[in-house]
Amino acid sequence: MRRVIIVGATGSIGRQAIDVVARHADRFSIAGLSAHSDEGGLLAAASRFRGAALCLSSRAPDSGAIAFHGPDGLRSLVRDTEADLVLNAAAGAAGLSVSFDALASGKDLALANKETIVMAGRLAFEAAGEAGRRILPVDSEHSAIFNMIERFGRDAVRGVVITASGGAFRDDPLESLPGKMPADALAHPTWSMGAKITVDSASMANKGLEVIEAARLFGLSGDRIDVVLHPESRVHSFIRTRDGSLYAQMSRPDMRIPILNALAWPESIDESVADMDPCDVFLRFSRPDPARYPLLRTAYEALASGEGATDAYNAANEVAVASFMGGAIRFTDIAVVVSRTLERAYPRTLEGLEAVLAVDGDARRVAASIVKEIA
Ligand code: NDP
Ligand code: MG
Repeated sequence: MRRVIIVGATGSIGRQAIDVVARHADRFSIAGLSAHSDEGGLLAAASRFRGAALCLSSRAPDSGAIAFHGPDGLRSLVRDTEADLVLNAAAGAAGLSVSFDALASGKDLALANKETIVMAGRLAFEAAGEAGRRILPVDSEHSAIFNMIERFGRDAVRGVVITASGGAFRDDPLESLPGKMPADALAHPTWSMGAKITVDSASMANKGLEVIEAARLFGLSGDRIDVVLHPESRVHSFIRTRDGSLYAQMSRPDMRIPILNALAWPESIDESVADMDPCDVFLRFSRPDPARYPLLRTAYEALASGEGATDAYNAANEVAVASFMGGAIRFTDIAVVVSRTLERAYPRTLEGLEAVLAVDGDARRVAASIVKEIA
């Protein structure tokens, strides 16, 4: 029985993870659950599992059933609750400390929070190495790549090809993009996800973050990571082996498969929620248009510049997306804010979490001032 703590239990990934655990109650149990402000959602999730420690990380709860609260409460939940694995499904940079607390307290880390790897991937692997624990990617593309690399061996792999759905505006005229509203960006064609990542999908900042994530997770330089547009979202990524062959992982788009694989690793568990008949699908692949998705190239540039720039890419994008959602800037301004924030010089390497958070804070201030100029 693997004892699991889910951070971000009320979110898109968190709710699907709870379903995975409930479907495989003979293999997994819930040791702890956290939400940020959705107390009702947290209590509803907890009602399915007896004895789980609960945390509301934004404020003091109304319910006496929730033992932990606030940022310190979240630290205690993750560090002090007995468990084998933490699923970090918190949204955004707030997930960084959760990852390091999980590893430092000797737990495996199933990582949906890609921000951890983009901001501090090398440090996270150092922490995992010191603790003798594993980082298991949940992001569907990286889960696919991880599972293939584990089977072929890292030395057999020449590079990877990450697939992208293209998001909500894939087929719209370029001239229409400046006029897109937040509600338009939230209409994703194939995946149902949290709000921020759905906007990132439309701009391909999500794919940019995933290119950086792949580089840090698998030790690949940018020229070994390719991105292709694949509207059907059935191929979750490819690896290219040394002989030039491409291997793909395919299923219907359902995050419960990568969640299950991360929770169960290295075992395989029977599950059929995303089974796919190859006769049912027609697969298309093409190059993403750089004019439609400028944030993809910016991510490669940040990757080439080093750890400070990738940290700043994430921070600037979070500020820009929040400003777009709040109506302060247009959709196409998100890319402008990020690329202008990256015109500053950032350190090539970040030694320690303080340095990571300092760059994150600096980039947020720069991005916010650019937003003010534009708005
Ligand atoms: P959601 O916005 O749906 O959920 C976020 C969860 O995190 C909620 O439980 C929320 O609590 C909690 N949360 C919000 N802010 C904080 C905070 N400051 N500290 C601690 N917890 C917080 O996001 P998703 O589930 O879509 O995404 C979660 C992560 O997984 C992101 O990093 C995303 O990039 C990644 N991911 C998501 C995929 C998906 O399919 N959704 C696919 C691949 C990766 P509350 O409800 O109380 O606000
Ligand atoms: Mg993904």
